[in-house]
Amino acid sequence: MNILTFDIEEWYVYELYPKGGKAYYTPILNGCLTRLLDFLDERNTRATFFCLGIMAISHPQIVKQIAERGHEIGCHSNKHILLNQLSPEQFREDTFQAIDRLQNLLGEKIEMYRAPAFSIKATTRWALEILVENGVKYDCSVFPGRLQPGGVALQERNYPSLITTPSGIIYEFPLSYSTVWSKQLVYSGGGFFRFFPYALIRSLTQKSEYNMTYFHIRDFDSQQKRVCSFRYFQSYYGINGAYEKFCRYVKDFDFVPLGVAVKMINWERLLLTV
Ligand SMILES: [Zn+2]
Repeated sequence: MNILTFDIEEWYVYELYPKGGKAYYTPILNGCLTRLLDFLDERNTRATFFCLGIMAISHPQIVKQIAERGHEIGCHSNKHILLNQLSPEQFREDTFQAIDRLQNLLGEKIEMYRAPAFSIKATTRWALEILVENGVKYDCSVFPGRLQPGGVALQERNYPSLITTPSGIIYEFPLSYSTVWSKQLVYSGGGFFRFFPYALIRSLTQKSEYNMTYFHIRDFDSQQKRVCSFRYFQSYYGINGAYEKFCRYVKDFDFVPLGVAVKMINWERLLLTV
């Protein structure tokens, strides 16, 4: 099972890209996105796009265009604030606002969610209950195993789970990884995808029964202005040729959006209480 997802947040949500700004980046976002959507159409491939709530206000045509071309829209928070910077009350407000904005724009229920930078972890597990309260059924916010940056993993399992919360059950689709020489390796998205050689990514994907991808439009924009920051390597390494690499990946494997993956799983075996 290979799940294709994108996080539509874009450059300027990070304070790390102060020299860019919306006026500079919006045309690039449009161009890169159109190229990507055309390619997915050609391949007859559908994906899940996690969009920020503020994009429903600042770039409504972009969110609408993605949905109208047959892709699923999920929520990627309202303003891309990491969960460890929010209280449960602030997170409740952020989630409500984001989902409300996307639902009002599209006229459909938003039931899929991914937290900024996979920031639901053991210390912020209260977020899952709040997501359920806000109508979210499917979550993709957990960085599994020992790889959790800056925190304790919420779960070790490298496969989807059903998680019970005080408000009800949520279907959890963690980011996938592979174990190579007893090291856990993420390869299916973001800077990891740009960094590793394609032959390795293809081989790890073939070996794994569960691959959860995550891409950003900026991962494919080799023309973008390089802004010097401590994220330089993370943001730009391997960006030349990244789009071609991505196209090869989509040609070599069958990808499905999250909603299709949900139906491919026998959930009875997968109940986990956190
Ligand atoms: Zn993000």
